[in-house]
Amino acid sequence: MKYHTREKRKRMRRRRIRRMIWRMAPYAAGILLVMMVWKLTSFAVRQLSGEEEIQQEEQLMDTEEDEMQETFQETEPPSSAKKDEILLVNKTHPLPEDYEPSLKRIGDYGADVAESIYDPLLQMLEDGKKEGLSFWIASSYRSPNRQRELLDEDIEALVRQGYSYSQAYEEVTKETMPVGCSEHATGLAVDIVAKDYQHLDEQQGRTEEIIWLQEHCSQYGFILRYPKDKEDITKVSYESWHFRYVGEKAAKEIMSQGLTLEEYLDSVE
Ligand SMILES: [Zn+2]
Repeated sequence: MKYHTREKRKRMRRRRIRRMIWRMAPYAAGILLVMMVWKLTSFAVRQLSGEEEIQQEEQLMDTEEDEMQETFQETEPPSSAKKDEILLVNKTHPLPEDYEPSLKRIGDYGADVAESIYDPLLQMLEDGKKEGLSFWIASSYRSPNRQRELLDEDIEALVRQGYSYSQAYEEVTKETMPVGCSEHATGLAVDIVAKDYQHLDEQQGRTEEIIWLQEHCSQYGFILRYPKDKEDITKVSYESWHFRYVGEKAAKEIMSQGLTLEEYLDSVE
């Protein structure tokens, strides 16, 4: 009996436990589900924030790259020659009064030029000679005082012909630069002519020497400073003989594109 009762009790307990398990099953399932959902969500969140972090890192790298490129661009010289390296002298850009270039004399021509153009100028003239041409340097460095003398002589001549001083000044400065505005005061410009035809006129531009110079000067860093049909920009009439040193890079761009120095400097600003 005792045994029976124990057996019965046991069975009853088992039944109770089973019933309890069944009753608890949905809760357990619910808890499991909640846990799974929690796990999944946190996993997804971690994934997402991970991606965000990567994106942020990528953005950071991009900005760093941009910044690096910016610094690179700042230090890299522009494709054209630097504007500051080329001296602009014209009627609206006079030289400082105390401007004094260091000069070097070309003995064969009795001409003083800026030291910086001595070698390329001689090289150009030498190479032309090899082509059977003969040159003469009609004008090279000219001091502001000499420029003033030249101006005064021309102005006086016109005044004697009946011009008023201001009319004469205006007329003369179409051809001769006012003091301080002449490139000859820089030592960077030379008037080169054919040795057997030394007149500064239309015909000079048709000599073999000038034709060769205009074609080859840029290889030596020189430009034709006052081209034909550009008087409105240079404010100086065509001078087939006036060559100005600007350096090879700028010279090649200017001569190949048929520009004036003013136009070129505007474009590289
Ligand atoms: Zn000149």
